[in-house]
Amino acid sequence: MVRRPRVAGTVRTLRQAVARFRGARESVALVPTMGALHEGHLSLVRVARRRSKRVVVSIFVNPAQFAPNEDLSSYPRTFDADLAALAKEKADLVWAPASVATMYPDGFSTRITPGGPALVGLEDAYRPHFFAGVATVVAKLLIQCLPDIVMFGEKDYQQLKVVTRMAHDLDLPVRVIGVPTVREPDGLAMSSRNVYLSPQERAAAPTLFRVLEDCSRKIAGGAPIASVMADGREAITRAGFQLDYLEARHAETLEPVASMTDGPVRLLVAARLGRTRLIDNVGVSLPARP
Ligand code: AMP
Repeated sequence: MVRRPRVAGTVRTLRQAVARFRGARESVALVPTMGALHEGHLSLVRVARRRSKRVVVSIFVNPAQFAPNEDLSSYPRTFDADLAALAKEKADLVWAPASVATMYPDGFSTRITPGGPALVGLEDAYRPHFFAGVATVVAKLLIQCLPDIVMFGEKDYQQLKVVTRMAHDLDLPVRVIGVPTVREPDGLAMSSRNVYLSPQERAAAPTLFRVLEDCSRKIAGGAPIASVMADGREAITRAGFQLDYLEARHAETLEPVASMTDGPVRLLVAARLGRTRLIDNVGVSLPARP
């Protein structure tokens, strides 16, 4: 049997454990998650494992990033299975705050309000409090754990850019590492929320990635961004999604781009299938010059 990682339930025990790593001059990586771990999360752990002597995985379903109408109470929670998966990946420590009050004690009243990539009319337009909730909890996690590196998935691309910006702006002594999206064999980006999809919705879901890839190929081939995006939006709606956005943005600032000469381009999409909201994104790479 593989040994389960140690679980810290309080900031004090987390700090004691990390201090022991530090005392032995070992590098520390943090992988923040909300649990219900799948291969996407585990790929973050594997990258962390390769780059760092010690790997800390946090599991905390953060109420501050859910709106009242969102799925906080029904969000999948699979702690025992998560621990078993992390044991296989040889994670060293799991930071699982014992309760919500461990993270947000009575009287908690400080919030980080990110700007820049958090205010570009993508996720922020549909989930107005989301990035303040994310930035606040990530800042806390980083200050609690003080890792050398922290891993975030490209799956949540805007989040990756918001956290990178925040770490830079606040001089947090950590390197933010982006990890490529892990997909199901049919292209659907893995997500803890995929369990909400009905069989019919699950069958339609990979369309999102197919359209993104199609758009990316056309733009790379020289087609005008505006018309490619318009066709993409239509294809997504035709497949039965309710589209929130499909946008071509600058890959770093997330500001709108009109053509490939405006800088590296990222295509980002959010769309709903029934009650499930899916997000995804891909880069646009120019064909290699002969
Ligand atoms: P979550 O538990 O959904 O908050 O995700 C925790 C971390 O895992 C975030 O940095 C996500 O971007 C990352 N992540 C989630 N799904 C995937 C995926 N399919 N591929 C790569 N990273 C992912």
